[in-house]
Amino acid sequence: MPEDADIIIIGAGPAGLSAAITLAKQDIRVLVIERESAGKEKVCGGGLGRRSIRLLDELTNNSFDYSKGNRINKLLVGAPDGSDLSLDFSGNKSLITGLTIVRGMLEDEMVRSINDNRNFTIRYDCEATKWKHTDNGVEVETNLGLFSAKALVIAAGAHPTREIEPDGYSPFNRESDAIALRAYFKNVDQNGNHDQIEFYFFKDVFPGYFWIFPQKESICNVGVYLPLRYKHQKGVNLQSLFYELIQEQSTLAGRFQNASLIGKIESSVLPLHKEKRVLSGDRFLVVGDSASLVDDLAGEGIGNALQSGIWAGEVLHNAFNNNDFSVESLRKYDLIINRKLVKELNWHARLMRFVGTKPRLFSLLVRKFSTSLSLNVSANKLATGASFKRLLFSSNFWIQILFSKW
Ligand SMILES: Cc1cc2nc3c(=O)[nH]c(=O)nc-3n(C[C@H](O)[C@H](O)[C@H](O)COP(=O)(O)OP(=O)(O)OC[C@H]3O[C@@H](n4cnc5c(N)ncnc54)[C@H](O)[C@@H]3O)c2cc1C
Repeated sequence: MPEDADIIIIGAGPAGLSAAITLAKQDIRVLVIERESAGKEKVCGGGLGRRSIRLLDELTNNSFDYSKGNRINKLLVGAPDGSDLSLDFSGNKSLITGLTIVRGMLEDEMVRSINDNRNFTIRYDCEATKWKHTDNGVEVETNLGLFSAKALVIAAGAHPTREIEPDGYSPFNRESDAIALRAYFKNVDQNGNHDQIEFYFFKDVFPGYFWIFPQKESICNVGVYLPLRYKHQKGVNLQSLFYELIQEQSTLAGRFQNASLIGKIESSVLPLHKEKRVLSGDRFLVVGDSASLVDDLAGEGIGNALQSGIWAGEVLHNAFNNNDFSVESLRKYDLIINRKLVKELNWHARLMRFVGTKPRLFSLLVRKFSTSLSLNVSANKLATGASFKRLLFSSNFWIQILFSKW
């Protein structure tokens, strides 16, 4: 019997859709299975950095409609001691340096960019409940029936149905990963800075943070991010903590006085990068949150979801051409992830473990970066995608740190 598609992708988040777009553009028939309805909003901050924007441009052949989101030109970082660092990227008008977008809208735009490609099919309200190998491929069981293909991409995020997790492996670890809460508010006082995202590393949440991400139409996506590997963050009631912060922190209280909550406050988990996880196997690849690829540095996951989807698509394209979906063939994906991503993720995790227990050092660095012009330029570069490691290993950076005013 002919297969329903060449490749089935479970999950239409950024990871699954980027794999699907990469494959469909190569004339490979993909079927994306998504358990939610089209355009469903997701629990997320919806903050996209420069790298995510570059990847979206690449995937959509520069057709992504950024007017669906809110362009970000400024960044404010508040330190535990109350000092802050303010960065402004508005100088480069031709480059989109940051964007906030309601999740659901991001996915919709990605689907729109490929929808008229005959190789691309998406089935919403379709939940994969199980999958298994057949003689020459895979078969996925869903509430809408059975679907078959040559291979599978698991892109089901941090909460896959247990039966579709590879080898029963769950991407999220309650001891060492992170949780976050998000809420939408109208009329948060932003002092006219609707193009500025804000991170506050308050003492009570450090090295987690409180964020304000302005969206379109005077609405703000507001939330708290907590990495759970820090003892003081275990067992915390996120919602109580959130209200405490907006009511009691002097930097926030006044600004939320006339603000009103829109919809429900919701929280979810972030599977931080870890060594022990499954990336590929016989006729399957795992991408995005399902592969635990969230960056420890700030809980950013969309960029790595997009990137891993692209790499998965490229490896499957190659496997398709050679008609070889074996463990050895698909292991190329592990090699790419390990070579191009894992080093950086490990490095970020180490950096977080070091600075994450030193709020005073962090505050000192924030003060230094905000008072020294040249360090401010370096911070600007970091915020728009430069590598932390490269900066920390440049002698120029240390000269700036040592010789700027203390
Ligand atoms: C509160 C919060 C705020 C965040 N803020 C940011 C941010 O500002 N910037 C950032 O970069 N990252 C942020 N993240 C992380 C980011 O949301 C994730 O890393 C990103 O969504 C991962 O993309 P993904 O495609 O791997 O998974 P997802 O986006 O979770 O997509 C998985 C998809 O699979 C579907 N699915 C699951 N199981 C099945 C099944 N059995 N059958 C069919 N479909 C299924 C789901 O419905 C979902 O649509 C945040 C996370 C949280 C919790």
